[in-house]
Amino acid sequence: MIRIDIRKRDGLARAGIFTCEGGSIPQVPFPAVLETDTVFPSLATRGGTNVPISAPAEFVKTYISRGPDQPVALHPALENPAQSGDIVMLANWHTALLNPRRYVGWLKNLKEKTPADTLWYAPGTALPSNAHILCYSGFGLFDYIAVDLKSAQGLFCTPEGEFPAEAQKSGICSCEGCKTGDLKVHNRRALDGEVALVRYFIGQSKLRELVEARCRMNANHVAIMRHLDTDYTGTELYAPVARSGVMRANSGESMQRVEVRRFAERLLTRYRPPKATVAVLLPCSAKKPYSLSQSHRRFQMAIAGRAHELIITSPLGLVPRELECVYPAMHYDVPVTGYWDAEECRYISDILARYLTLHKYDRVIAHLEGGALRVAEMAAETCGITLEYTCREHPTGEAALAQLSHSLDCERRVKDDRLHGMLSYQFGCDFDTKGMLSRGHFPELFYSKNNQQVFSIDTGNGLLRPTFEGWALIPQGYRVTISDFLPEGDVLVPGVVEADPAIRDGDEVLVVGPKATATGRAAMSAAEMKNSKRGVAVRVRKIKKVAV
Ligand SMILES: [Zn+2]
Repeated sequence: MIRIDIRKRDGLARAGIFTCEGGSIPQVPFPAVLETDTVFPSLATRGGTNVPISAPAEFVKTYISRGPDQPVALHPALENPAQSGDIVMLANWHTALLNPRRYVGWLKNLKEKTPADTLWYAPGTALPSNAHILCYSGFGLFDYIAVDLKSAQGLFCTPEGEFPAEAQKSGICSCEGCKTGDLKVHNRRALDGEVALVRYFIGQSKLRELVEARCRMNANHVAIMRHLDTDYTGTELYAPVARSGVMRANSGESMQRVEVRRFAERLLTRYRPPKATVAVLLPCSAKKPYSLSQSHRRFQMAIAGRAHELIITSPLGLVPRELECVYPAMHYDVPVTGYWDAEECRYISDILARYLTLHKYDRVIAHLEGGALRVAEMAAETCGITLEYTCREHPTGEAALAQLSHSLDCERRVKDDRLHGMLSYQFGCDFDTKGMLSRGHFPELFYSKNNQQVFSIDTGNGLLRPTFEGWALIPQGYRVTISDFLPEGDVLVPGVVEADPAIRDGDEVLVVGPKATATGRAAMSAAEMKNSKRGVAVRVRKIKKVAV
């Protein structure tokens, strides 16, 4: 009896515990490499599984068989034969790696039709050099077939690629196999080690960073990552709304990350700015949130609340002051060289131009230099506005700050309403925050109304955390409806009747049922709640019985 228990999601990647009751391996964490002929003894004699991935539907239907037991054979041209809890197997997936465009097409097709709570097995495919991209694509179970084949071919496997066997003598590795000159042992160890590393990165919600680093050695891996990024609506569904820790935007592809695009998307579709007639465009700071940096303290002193502050930054584009604590605005790190490449400029100026077209200001002041200034000028030209300049270099210099302050002499104060901006961004709602008070030490802020706490900022992930009273102020959305029971802890998938399709992994949600309401955080997307039979749907924070 095989059981899979998914405990951690990171985009398409899954980590958890694989249990094979009564088998030789009672419990293993996945992604895992297993001796699959002992775990699935019938596989050795099973026919009708080894159909080429690119085979046409007619051929596939004639030859493929789902199999009598685990794992269940899948094929892009076959209707989904798998159920929740199954191990699904994609034979010949190693050939898909050679065709990045079709790889992503097949993957999308298969993901759409297969239950979310399945464990994906790629037989004969995993090498230390491709484990990262296979796990990033959602595979979680591998065998030693591909590395054993490399050993037979006299190739030394590392995460950076496969090299002639002599490389083993060059001191690259000091594993058991390398000490005794045993290539097969080394290759298997190298695969185990790499899969363990990937598993660790999934646990840390940092698999993307590992993939961006690892993929450089193989053009196909880079292409797969890029094709997955291009399919924004497909991958956005699986991306958590926030991650713990720093988002490292260290490569050109970082700009295409779901988190970066989602930020711009929500900025332009959900975010409601305060009423203001003047906007000041400011440079970003290395310290986050920006308000805590020396430079931004100076900018804020000079502006003195008389303009709406918009921060121009790469790769996020544009961060209004109220969204500086939102993920990933408070959580990104980017190499600073002062050089903005053409792609970066075009992407960021496009966001700024769309924002300025959507939200009109009487005056837009550019308090910028270098690449950020160029971006502002490109955007101004696109949307036909005339920028005012309070500096063209050294924005933190005394003269520049004095000019910035002076330029706002006749302007009135803009209402400082961080909560309103954050609420609109996170929940897509627009409501009056009149009468709400904030306390706490920035950025750890708590908001209350009539002496009752309604929201607080979770500085770990930049999300607003509503209390029951806070939820009462959010008219709709982000609800998970449960059936007629009183949750005793986390809400599990079978208890969910309906969930707002906007919900993503990590979102703050309100659980609503006939017997109880609860506040908590979604542990998976609404789509996955619908498409699974087991697992935690919502990690509950507080439960309130419904008075009968
Ligand atoms: Zn070794």
